[in-house]
Amino acid sequence: MGKLTTSDIVKKYNFRFTKSLGQNFLTDESVLMDIVESANITKDDFVIEIGPGVGTLTNELLKRAKFVYAIELDSKLIPILQQELGIHDNFKIINEDALKVDFNEIIGNEESVKVVANLPYYVTTPIISKFLTEGYNFKSLTIMIQKEVAERINAEPGTKEYGALTLLAQYYCDTEIIRKVPASAFIPSPKVDSIVIKLNKLSKPKVSVKSEKLFFKVVKQSFSMRRKTLWNGMKNIGLNKEMLMEAFQKSDIDPKRRGETLTIQEFANLSNSIYELLN
Ligand code: SAM
Repeated sequence: MGKLTTSDIVKKYNFRFTKSLGQNFLTDESVLMDIVESANITKDDFVIEIGPGVGTLTNELLKRAKFVYAIELDSKLIPILQQELGIHDNFKIINEDALKVDFNEIIGNEESVKVVANLPYYVTTPIISKFLTEGYNFKSLTIMIQKEVAERINAEPGTKEYGALTLLAQYYCDTEIIRKVPASAFIPSPKVDSIVIKLNKLSKPKVSVKSEKLFFKVVKQSFSMRRKTLWNGMKNIGLNKEMLMEAFQKSDIDPKRRGETLTIQEFANLSNSIYELLN
């Protein structure tokens, strides 16, 4: 692609942005390099990029990776990507909705899979959840997302950002904020600031739970009524009052606490005690 910048390519093809597809293209070269460097791509890596846009980030990934799969929903971008990146032979574009792709069909038996993306805002959380919950074999997600979502993923117990998304991400991954990115780093500028965050998948989940389904149910119910106590949140978990009290006692958790104060280990302890009494 030579030295064409995002703005150059947009002008060259007279590309018209589609707001509803979250098309805010990155123009700040330093942010682009920080994404690529923090993703730590080597010639052993098979990269999945969601939403390549006009391909500026893709071009840097292609220089470093063994192979890059780029999933782009907007058909208008496909000929541009083919034209600009066609010289690389370690590259495949898939013109599909990333939410509908079965990544196992793409990943196959590859050992080192890394996901890199400047994600479209309107599908940030569903895409992250898809990678985390569908059991895909990937090593890391290095993604640029809106600041508020990154802060929720990386949150500590007892903060207002701490919630179900925090627990989902931190159950499967170590999370690390790489850098903040101002809205001015994109064309067109979005209304929100962004953060580059890296989620490194753990070889096994951070805490040991007897049932993942129940663990995430306990988490969900704890946060569905944020201002209420855990006791209120657990009322419909399937135990009578005496047994529920026993579950709290066994896990050494005061039922008057709020869900947002529990560490991930405490959520595991509570869900394991509930599991034992339910089974
Ligand atoms: N990677 C480019 C960059 O950094 O400048 C573009 C990033 S832009 C924030 C998001 C990209 O995702 C756009 O190209 C948009 O068309 C694409 N996109 C939007 N929804 C998508 C979806 N559901 N599946 C795949 N790509 C999508």
